[in-house]
Amino acid sequence: MKSNPEKHKILSPFLNRLAVIFADIDHAYLTSSSYYNFHCKGCDENCCMTHFFHHTHMEYFYILEGISELDSTLSASIYKKAREANQQSISSIQQGDTVRLMCPLNSNGICLIYNHRPMICRMHGIPHELRFPGKQPVFGKGCKAFEVQCEKKQYRPFDRTPFYVSMANLEKDMKQQLGIKEKFKKIIAQMLVD
Ligand code: SF4
Repeated sequence: MKSNPEKHKILSPFLNRLAVIFADIDHAYLTSSSYYNFHCKGCDENCCMTHFFHHTHMEYFYILEGISELDSTLSASIYKKAREANQQSISSIQQGDTVRLMCPLNSNGICLIYNHRPMICRMHGIPHELRFPGKQPVFGKGCKAFEVQCEKKQYRPFDRTPFYVSMANLEKDMKQQLGIKEKFKKIIAQMLVD
């Protein structure tokens, strides 16, 4: 993004709005995880190995901004790992296997762009709900580590809906401004090779 200052100038206010949404998500997550006394620490089912799809161009641009703040050797190694992970992911899918590959942004258990990580990385782990007009609410359970640590705790509502709506509105505004028509659905490795 540093290489295209004009585009960065247009994107900047959108990225700032995204940072505000993410701060709200982090706050809501922290409130819930504190209630459960849930701690995300090394578990067998590392969510950084999950084949999560991300659905907004905004998150893609935010990740690129995070990478652009790293030194060039580190960012080059991220793009190399992304190419390898993407290739392995394509092979696994072709062979009908479940894809479980470490995110190229994870180094020794640490997210290299922690402050710029996408939405699902901020919300995953604790039970939640989604409420869209005219539809039954959808409830999702916590991750495996959550179930082990907090199975006896009563559910505390964590409604993802307002965050999804804010993200969708921001994405719409940004696409309009930049003239982007395509939808977005990519895993991180895929984002970093395209
Ligand atoms: S972006 Fe960061 S938190 Fe999200 S999967 Fe990759 S390493 Fe893990």
